[in-house]
Amino acid sequence: MAKHVWNFVYSPQSLVSRFYKSKYFQNTHILQAKASPGSSFIWQGIITARNEVLKGYRWILGDGNSINCTQDPWLIGKGDFKVDQTRAYADNNMVVSQLFLQGERKWDAHKVVSIFSNSDANLILSMRIPDLPSMDRLAWAHSTNGKYSVKMGYHLWHNHHVGFGSVVQSKGWTRLWKLDLPHKTKLFLWRFCRNNIPLKSRLSTKGVHIPVDCPMCTSEVEDLRHLFFQCPFALACWSYYGAAYAMSTEDSASGWLLFKLDTCSSEEILLIVTVLWGIWFFRNKKVWENKRVTADIAMSWSAKTISDWKEARDKHAAQVVSKLSVRISPTVKWKKPDYGVYKLNVDAAIKLGEISFSMGLVLRDHSGTLVAGKTICKLMVSSVFEAEATAILEGLQWLINMTVDKVIIESDSFLSVKALQNSQENLLEVGNILSACRSILDSRPEFSVSFVKRQANRVAHVAARIPCSLNCQNIFSTPPSLLLEPLLYDLSY
Ligand SMILES: [Zn+2]
Repeated sequence: MAKHVWNFVYSPQSLVSRFYKSKYFQNTHILQAKASPGSSFIWQGIITARNEVLKGYRWILGDGNSINCTQDPWLIGKGDFKVDQTRAYADNNMVVSQLFLQGERKWDAHKVVSIFSNSDANLILSMRIPDLPSMDRLAWAHSTNGKYSVKMGYHLWHNHHVGFGSVVQSKGWTRLWKLDLPHKTKLFLWRFCRNNIPLKSRLSTKGVHIPVDCPMCTSEVEDLRHLFFQCPFALACWSYYGAAYAMSTEDSASGWLLFKLDTCSSEEILLIVTVLWGIWFFRNKKVWENKRVTADIAMSWSAKTISDWKEARDKHAAQVVSKLSVRISPTVKWKKPDYGVYKLNVDAAIKLGEISFSMGLVLRDHSGTLVAGKTICKLMVSSVFEAEATAILEGLQWLINMTVDKVIIESDSFLSVKALQNSQENLLEVGNILSACRSILDSRPEFSVSFVKRQANRVAHVAARIPCSLNCQNIFSTPPSLLLEPLLYDLSY
């Protein structure tokens, strides 16, 4: 049923969509359509499903003409993507484009500040308005490609109506025990899916009287969603692999993992497990030994533990499954391109709570010599994924204007490179960036994009962190002092 609703939104020309539209919502949008007492059972079912779907969609800003600024979910940075209506002085029909400066694609800061609460106004002003005008579009907020899937809809529905106190039927359970991982890691995953990890908040409901604050940041209650997805430490761990998993306040973390176990490729699962396991291990280090490590160390440790285990257990099997473990083992280095080929390493740096993010692009030739580099600072985007994809796009746009033949672009964002390779449509903001990348790649077959481990992308990683102010672009052909060490390191054996 929910699938029907999305078909109405995205395939309004299909026979079924046209049939229902003419019958039930001729003059309005499916999202405003109503069920009347006499309507068919199927139609009533669709309306019920529609109400479920409504909980999972958000608007992606285009021209701002279709988004009601006080009623619709559109504001990035809010769990429900909505402005605080009780503190907004706007009339009920105001659309987002009315917040732009007349005839421009910029926010009318004065207007925004006078209408919304301070925190909402700040979020709005830090949202990027796409440079090219396009229609506003609806996307499903709970997937990395913005598309609705029946499975995910069911999973959300289940969260709302059943909760995860009961055990969900899912193929994820079977998959979990078949994973090629240490037994204690599997046990950890199993407890995670059962929402049975001994976190402080959980122990406190069992009558254990302890403070419930998160041991990593001490500023929030420690529950699954916070510790593994929202805590600054968790965010740093995920971004180490260029992965971003948005989780709204309505998601249950345990259900999310079970769902991933059911639906993801084994590579993506290995990535997820590596991050969760590393967070959990170092959370315990902090609680029991008061030891603190950076996300980089936690993630290298976790990847190494899993790959060492595989190696020790079965050398032959380790070779078979080494695709990802090679990629995440911490000893990998940057490689010079072949003669006549150039390599452009790109990376994005995001600091939490900042209104901007920066990118570093470093172009080298077959001898590993720096040809040119660039740092760019832009207004913040909706996710780490989008920031990393933007860095790839900046790289491609830069290369177009250069006289270089064959260039390999290397990024350590697994999601971005994968998305570019499988060329699936993405409805979120990042979709605009990905399609801009694709159109350049299609017209310039001598450019290619590939994934590298973060350790092999150190030069770009450091370049992206060279201080740079908003909207500035610096191009250099002699390396800035900060880059000397990583450039030399890449040339060493
Ligand atoms: Zn925390």
